[in-house]
Amino acid sequence: MDPNRKSSLLIIYTGGTIGMKEDPLDHTLKPFDFSQILTEVPELGKFALKIDSIAFDPLIDSSDVDPGMWKELARIIHDKYDNYDGFIILHGTDTMAYSASALSFMMDGLNKPVVFTGSQLPIGVARTDGKENLISAAEIASAVDREGHPRVPEVCIYFDSLLMRGNRAVKVNSDEFRAFSSPNLPPLAIAGIDIRYNDELIRKPLDWYGTPSVNTTLDTRVSILKLHPGITSELVGHVLLSPGSRAVILETYGAGNAPSATWFLDLVREAVAQDKILLNVTQCLSGRVNMGIYATGRSLERAGVINGYDITTEGALGKLFHLLGRSGDQDWVKSMLRRNLKGEITVLKDPS
Ligand code: ASP
Repeated sequence: MDPNRKSSLLIIYTGGTIGMKEDPLDHTLKPFDFSQILTEVPELGKFALKIDSIAFDPLIDSSDVDPGMWKELARIIHDKYDNYDGFIILHGTDTMAYSASALSFMMDGLNKPVVFTGSQLPIGVARTDGKENLISAAEIASAVDREGHPRVPEVCIYFDSLLMRGNRAVKVNSDEFRAFSSPNLPPLAIAGIDIRYNDELIRKPLDWYGTPSVNTTLDTRVSILKLHPGITSELVGHVLLSPGSRAVILETYGAGNAPSATWFLDLVREAVAQDKILLNVTQCLSGRVNMGIYATGRSLERAGVINGYDITTEGALGKLFHLLGRSGDQDWVKSMLRRNLKGEITVLKDPS
């Protein structure tokens, strides 16, 4: 990249708390006009950056996010790809980790940063965390390495001084500024006095110059079943055997354990016999599934349940929507679930 050329960023405002400011007339919070971003956040003007913005219409509280919005985001990034060096997606925090995960799977060959951020307090209130989040996200999205390549060519989430891989992040706090965590992968960067990048963790593309391909076909026939003591066979049967689903994310205990009751294992076997994909994801915030440790986990493995390793539920949902959308072949999807596609699982030398 020409060192004298200004980096250019596109900010895509989808909705959420960050873009709100108080209306001086009636004191309610209203979305501000993002074409005036430099007036609202003048600090952005201190970087040598060309910043454009577009806003969704209507703006979306992220509880209303659906795969249609992910397709729209992927389409915008794809269409504008050659015009910008990086993309910032301003998004409500509630489902940000789902959106970042899904997008990471939908784009192949990404070689520029796509940084999601948002805030716990609106950008227009005095103690907002939104300004710091946006300013640092802009610095990260425009950062280049010694060769002039983007420093973080990944889909990520920046929040409260942490840059996390998008498909590793989870929302962990509803009222503190540290709203996100990446329990199974250290941050890709930490912003303090300097922004310290964890370069060895950051994924690099095979090709620095191509435009990524975007796959917007998603198959949402996926359910999530969270196990709990007292869960009934009726409920388990409904979810596992539902004719409307091709896959179930089984949120199990600890290292991937589930009840040893015969009725439970019979239902699991029946679902597998019906060609459903059952993916074992732990309910624990950190750590991984290892179905070889306890007899209860081993029975799931023998019944044909797939190991989700250390994937998050948010990551598993995006990965499944994407893979099921790509193929009707359940065996192919199972084989891809075992593979690390976008840095979403930690592959150990001898994965179990
Ligand atoms: N409910 C809001 C949303 O996720 C909260 C936020 O913006 O953080 O859109």
